[in-house]
Amino acid sequence: MFAIAALFAPLSAMCGGEGEAVRPKYVFLFIGDGMSVPQRMTANEFSIATGGSGLRMNSMEVVAMARSRSANYLVTDSAAAATAIACGEKTNNGSVGVDKSGGKLVSCAELAKMNGRKVGIITTVTITHATPAGFYAHRKTRGDVPNIARDLADSGFDLFAGGGIPLKGDKAKEAYDYISQKGYRIVKTADEFDSLRPGCGKVMARFSDDALANSIDAAEAEGQPTIGQMLKKAIELLDGEKGFFIMCEGGRIDWSCHGNDAATNLRDILALDDAVGVALDFERSHPGETLVVATGDHETGGMTMGFAGTGRDIHVERLGLQTMSVPSFNGAVARLFAERKGELAFEDVVPLMEKAFGVKFSGDPKKDPMRLSAQEEKDIRKAFDEDIAKYRKKVAETTDYKAPLKYGLGNALRTVVSHKAGIDWTSGSHTALPVMTTATGAGAKTLSGFYENSELGRRLRAFYE
Ligand SMILES: [Zn+2]
Repeated sequence: MFAIAALFAPLSAMCGGEGEAVRPKYVFLFIGDGMSVPQRMTANEFSIATGGSGLRMNSMEVVAMARSRSANYLVTDSAAAATAIACGEKTNNGSVGVDKSGGKLVSCAELAKMNGRKVGIITTVTITHATPAGFYAHRKTRGDVPNIARDLADSGFDLFAGGGIPLKGDKAKEAYDYISQKGYRIVKTADEFDSLRPGCGKVMARFSDDALANSIDAAEAEGQPTIGQMLKKAIELLDGEKGFFIMCEGGRIDWSCHGNDAATNLRDILALDDAVGVALDFERSHPGETLVVATGDHETGGMTMGFAGTGRDIHVERLGLQTMSVPSFNGAVARLFAERKGELAFEDVVPLMEKAFGVKFSGDPKKDPMRLSAQEEKDIRKAFDEDIAKYRKKVAETTDYKAPLKYGLGNALRTVVSHKAGIDWTSGSHTALPVMTTATGAGAKTLSGFYENSELGRRLRAFYE
């Protein structure tokens, strides 16, 4: 009997040679976009240094590493990586849910749905972004948002939650109308979402027209739930006889790595980790039938712990002094420029800089490590001078010029803060570092090893084949 069963069960879904395919009733797949070993370990140290006990995602006992290359580049993008993790096939950068010739693939989420599982897709960025799209869409180009939105509606998945669809005007209306026609109830606020009860039917919860706010800027993001709150509700709505598959993405982790904004990055990883905690608590109350997996799609930023300026010391706790993300800070600076019509001095921005990044422009450097050195202050002043010159030049050219969010001052400050914390970066883009996966629960052992990212997708699919 054993031999016959073994012939028909996919090898990767066998557990410990017992001969029975593992079919976890509940699967939680967490993806930190741009989250590889450096991000997971820096966030781990940050948690410990600020009174926590490390990341729960790092406490899971099964570990795997995956090579993240895509079909056409050693450095993958999120679309190809999501396709590999979701569908078990490498594709070209930019493609979602199709192979490199454009042929349609089937994702583990779609297989879960065919197996009668409820399916939920959660993200902190736009719901049509590359990572979530890899689980339900089939398009050669990740930028084909109108058709990705149609695929979302056609998927029949039970729950989508996160940011909205980044389309404007008639195109946005058309997309949402189509989703409604397909039977989705569209909710926009955390309160509305919270009032939903099991049996309410298919739901699309979009808490913004665009991505959700960074966790560090949460106070500005009224009406937006945290990723952990979204997951709690998803569990309540999707739990049932047949179980569920939930993919939960910390999408903005990648964006702050592109921006080399360490403090913002760590806060978003901790937020994702809170959601992992929700899943681990669920696993504890549903043992033997629940699988929890936490992975990343690629590394972003070439982040590293260790910087020559701090020697052997790492001071990640200093990142806890930063109170807003770089984009949010630059927005505040842009508003100041506009309010004062460019008539302001460096000293006028000092209080904002001190509050936002925890740096000090006065005091004794021997007593306060956040006191800026002469060189650091010089770099920051230079960035301010350039920004204000840019603003004044534009205002001189056109009377209705609105200050853009993108200024260099925030970048000058985040570089100083990263270095004071002992963190450094080699890139504003993705890198080819491998990604780490951890897992626990039913079927977790089948995921261990050192393999291609597409192998993780194959092993996830095997739970439903
Ligand atoms: Zn990515």
